[in-house]
Amino acid sequence: MEKVYETDVVVIGAGPGGYSAAFQAADLGLKTTLIDLREQPGGVCLHAGCIPSKALLHIGQVLQQAEHASIFGIDFKKPHVELHRVRKWKNEVTQKLTTGLGQIAKMRGVKFIQGRAIFQDSSHLKVEGETPFKVSFKHAIIATGSRPTRFQPFDIKSERILDSSSGLEIQEIYKRLLIVGGGYIGLEMGTIYASLGSKVTVLELTDGLLPGVDRDLVRPLAMKLDKLFEIIHLKTRVTNLIESSQGMEVQFNSNLNYSEIFDAVLIAVGRTANTENLGLENTKVQLKNNFVITDEQSRTSDPSIFAVGDVAGQPMLAHKAFREGKIAAKVLAGEAAALDNLAIPAVVFTDPEIAWCGLTETEAKEEGQQILVAKFPWAASGRSLTLGRRDGLTKIIFDPKTQAVLGVGIVGPGAGELIAEGCLAVEMGAVAEDIVATIHPHPTLSETVMETAEVLFGQSSHIYKRRQ
Ligand code: FAD
Repeated sequence: MEKVYETDVVVIGAGPGGYSAAFQAADLGLKTTLIDLREQPGGVCLHAGCIPSKALLHIGQVLQQAEHASIFGIDFKKPHVELHRVRKWKNEVTQKLTTGLGQIAKMRGVKFIQGRAIFQDSSHLKVEGETPFKVSFKHAIIATGSRPTRFQPFDIKSERILDSSSGLEIQEIYKRLLIVGGGYIGLEMGTIYASLGSKVTVLELTDGLLPGVDRDLVRPLAMKLDKLFEIIHLKTRVTNLIESSQGMEVQFNSNLNYSEIFDAVLIAVGRTANTENLGLENTKVQLKNNFVITDEQSRTSDPSIFAVGDVAGQPMLAHKAFREGKIAAKVLAGEAAALDNLAIPAVVFTDPEIAWCGLTETEAKEEGQQILVAKFPWAASGRSLTLGRRDGLTKIIFDPKTQAVLGVGIVGPGAGELIAEGCLAVEMGAVAEDIVATIHPHPTLSETVMETAEVLFGQSSHIYKRRQ
């Protein structure tokens, strides 16, 4: 007879959404089981996303900073990159984190199982793995994440066609690399390869990089990437892909129709939710555009099943998954919790970094919402100049009546760290005066947040602007 394992909560997928949900459920005293296809928890984020990409971007930053040091009068020799050591270091970082998570799961009493989970009904699932068995559960949390969207109609199987996962394996520093997609994943992958020495071409379908992101923030990055990358083609689509002995011949369609040969093509055209082959048809869970439909408490249309993270829709970011995971576990344990956040930050880890949270100027315009906008250019920041940088900008969106902070946007080195102050300001309902009256350490880039609020009152010490 098939073995049946009984549990209070079963979590399917051990990425940020899944492991945070499982740990929270166990902390609340529930018998918790965590299932993943991989040997160790961590999901895409730790194995093939956030962490390996940031480890490689750090290496790229070191290389770029060494080159940049010539403006301070310091010349380094051309760096020698040993790719196998770069790969080893990146793998060590992810391994440390994923084995650490495995140990934390054990310490918390979470049963971790490697295998594929498939729902049989709203209270049972089967696990396909070395020894298939059945799990009987009171509640399930779907946290199966997402995968790179296939590049239809050119879905060719070839070692020269990469996605973000295979690209992060850095098997080779391709001489000529084409990145299809000018979103954050495409630009981060392009930055990694260009810093390591590839000639990178980027192709973007719309009329600008990072579609949907505030143009004030994108402009300084686009100027920098124009130098780092070989060429950026906007309003351009791939019309054909043919593999030959020389490489991948790519035909483009833009103002000019032409073709070029690349050593590899990295596709970064979006991500698709993992909702197939999960047995969802045996439950009452409903989907929209392949994502699981959930409410602000991460409940699905099936009373015993929750869904969190990428599989539950945009924004497909690890920190949203972490928060939803904790919410789902609390709600099924009977606690009050909901995703009621006003500010979910987003960060593009390029150089310069771009980060924003809360309301953007673009959104306010689209919705016809009255706002006040204050900007502080980093060319006036002492700290920025000591770094040899003038290309940053901090921007705050205020409510014109209350002067409450509605949104913050930052472009510049370290923007991803700085945005946390913006998130706190929006969540706490801070007004401009709160930021102005908070002493920020000098000389730091964080002062630019304070000075932006001062700009609203025409009181910034380092730029002259009349009160709005
Ligand atoms: P995932 O991390 O996708 O994990 C899902 C897990 O479910 C996987 O381990 C999978 O094996 C498992 N699974 C799937 N189906 C089954 C099944 N049937 N049975 C058992 N297990 C199953 N986000 C950020 O916030 N910051 C970043 O800097 C960032 N950088 C990124 C860089 C790249 C290159 C990529 C690709 C993504 C990046 N992201 C980043 C996005 C981030 O990785 C995701 O938002 C995050 O991983 C989502 O977490 P999740 O828990 O929803 O799912």
